[in-house]
Amino acid sequence: MRLSVIVPCYNEETCLPRLRAELLHVLSPLTEEFEVILVDDGSTDDTLGQLRAMARADSRFRYLSLSRNFGKESAMLAGLKHAAGDLVAILDADLQHPPELLGDMVALIDKGYDQVVARRNRTGDARVRTAASRAYYRMMNRLVDVELTDGVGDFRLLTRRAVDALLSLEERNRFSKGLFAWIGFDTAVVDYENVARTDGDSKWSLRSLVNYGIDGILSFNHQPLRLAMYLGALCTAAAFGYALWLVAGALLNGTTAPGYVTIMCGIIGFGGMQLLLVGVLGEYLGRIYQETKQRPHFLLKETSHSVAPETPCVD
Ligand code: UDP
Ligand code: MG
Repeated sequence: MRLSVIVPCYNEETCLPRLRAELLHVLSPLTEEFEVILVDDGSTDDTLGQLRAMARADSRFRYLSLSRNFGKESAMLAGLKHAAGDLVAILDADLQHPPELLGDMVALIDKGYDQVVARRNRTGDARVRTAASRAYYRMMNRLVDVELTDGVGDFRLLTRRAVDALLSLEERNRFSKGLFAWIGFDTAVVDYENVARTDGDSKWSLRSLVNYGIDGILSFNHQPLRLAMYLGALCTAAAFGYALWLVAGALLNGTTAPGYVTIMCGIIGFGGMQLLLVGVLGEYLGRIYQETKQRPHFLLKETSHSVAPETPCVD
């Protein structure tokens, strides 16, 4: 069995020595043939220097360095494209995805699963964040066709055919949680205890989390557009009813001047709603624009191995 382990790294110099030790400790008994593909996602600290040293010392540790920070999604994709294993695992550099779980995960693949995902509980997370993600997933699962699970992240083990399926999805705007669920195949779940990050910092801010949430909703369905249609239909029906009532009143009682409050509420309410819905349209339009440009998902600056001729450095 050949096993590839992909690790996206963005400014993780403090985590890498421990990561290397843990991976060696876990992988050596598991299989003789493994490779660790560390993807430097345009780090500004000494991550790349450490990756070079790791690759020099042990040829099973390989690295790819992207030309700038393309984001974790692109870093994972770069790793997936370069992984040669029959089984491919993805885990974070900060050891929040405990490598010792890989043993159990491989055992499940042997039972016939194509994807094994690790699911963390939320011990130690801020309560607000836990509640927010619960609500988010409840809403998402109502909107989106694919089933997303709270606590399930990118930590997973895939068979070659699952990886190939994933690579066949060429979209630029990658929401991998959704993509992993979209490809389907028999999926097993392994639970693990939440681990706090010990070194370095999380790259998530509140703003990036909110943006990620919006990405999730928009990149997997066009329900928001449908919602706009329903809302429009509802408002039109209400407006007709109200207009009839006004006309009937005017015919019966003649016209009177009052109505300032109604008009103001109407202008403000409908103005706001229209702007919001134009925003939703704009989001989809922006996505179409990004897709039509067909830019590569990432650019490589340097690798530990010469890239095979059929895999160009771009993409
Ligand atoms: N990461 C990356 N590119 C980025 C941001 C993060 O490759 O632009 C990597 C990071 O090095 C880590 C993983 O993605 O290995 C998860 O990042 P982080 O720990 O910040 O996320 P969290 O665990 O807080 O969700
Ligand atoms: Mg982390």
